[in-house]
Amino acid sequence: MLSKLYGNRMNIENVNDVEIYRIAAGVLSEITHDFNGGIYAKLGGNLNFSWVDKKMVTAWAESKGNPDSPPNHEIILSYELARQVYRDIEGYYEFAASALLEEPMITIFNSFNPKPQLPDFDKKAIITNMYLGAITWVFFHELGHLTQEHGYIRSIFGKGEPKTRIEDCESDGEKKLEGKAATISHVTELAADVYATYSCIMELIRHFSPEQLDDVNEESKKLFQGNLYLMVCGISCIFYRFNGERLLEPHEEPIGSHPTPIRRLELCIPNIFERLDVNGTGHKLHGMDRSVLVNLCIGAAESVGFFWLWPYIHPDAIPEHFFVKGVLQDPYKTSYWKEIIESWDEIKVEINKIKRFGNERGLLFFTDELRDEVFS
Ligand SMILES: [Zn+2]
Repeated sequence: MLSKLYGNRMNIENVNDVEIYRIAAGVLSEITHDFNGGIYAKLGGNLNFSWVDKKMVTAWAESKGNPDSPPNHEIILSYELARQVYRDIEGYYEFAASALLEEPMITIFNSFNPKPQLPDFDKKAIITNMYLGAITWVFFHELGHLTQEHGYIRSIFGKGEPKTRIEDCESDGEKKLEGKAATISHVTELAADVYATYSCIMELIRHFSPEQLDDVNEESKKLFQGNLYLMVCGISCIFYRFNGERLLEPHEEPIGSHPTPIRRLELCIPNIFERLDVNGTGHKLHGMDRSVLVNLCIGAAESVGFFWLWPYIHPDAIPEHFFVKGVLQDPYKTSYWKEIIESWDEIKVEINKIKRFGNERGLLFFTDELRDEVFS
């Protein structure tokens, strides 16, 4: 599927908007085609992918029919989403090639090994690979909503109107969710995040596996590490872009449709490094020990946070809840995360019944350590 993504030599100069759409369309159409020829054919269903010409950053997943009938699924992305994400990534490249290498960043990331930095690829390869990592992650996020039939789940458990469509867009507008509807929305967003992150990591592992490469060597390990860094940066850019004007500070309980970018990262990043840790299949492909792996992922995410917030924050007055510390450090873990875990336990039984496809490891999961802390 993503076999063309991870090389380090590309020559695309002065990318215009049409080229941006073309790059994404090529990869996403190929993924859709593979799913239709595989799992959807087995289920007697269909997956469509299309674009919408809306002047806003938006993507949605539509499931027509009910969970008992073969899946009739559609994923739609706006051209503006593709364009904006690409331009964000161009901006990140400039930031990472300048301010990230200077004070005060040197001091802030002093204890990181490795320090967050762009891989040694050419500029176009960096931007294109980060862009495709981000846009593919969005596609898989929508697919996560579909395979777990989150529209149905929200209508049953969220006390809302029956809806066939789940939308991810830059702004909540006036429709601010509260109470049970907000909790079910947050938990299904996190479940789609975990599915998307798992899918992207498995693609990365597959690409660098001995079946795909002639030889796993130091050069292929460096390529793996560089592309992992760009993937985490791409996912982080998506979280900040989609957050739009919503709250950045953590709230005591779920409110609105989506969790904050930091909370989404705090759940996704451990999913990445646990999947790639020394006991997993990824280690022999990337060669990093646990501490290097964790530093690379957290450094990538925080560097994007700094890029995003740099115009608004002073280095001596970084907001208290800006850093990716982990769910266990969340100031509201006994209220926010308690509600999320309780709701997940409630809906997971139904999701397991109606889920169309997907590995168990792509399901949202909470550690016993977190459960003990939250319910103590
Ligand atoms: Zn979503």
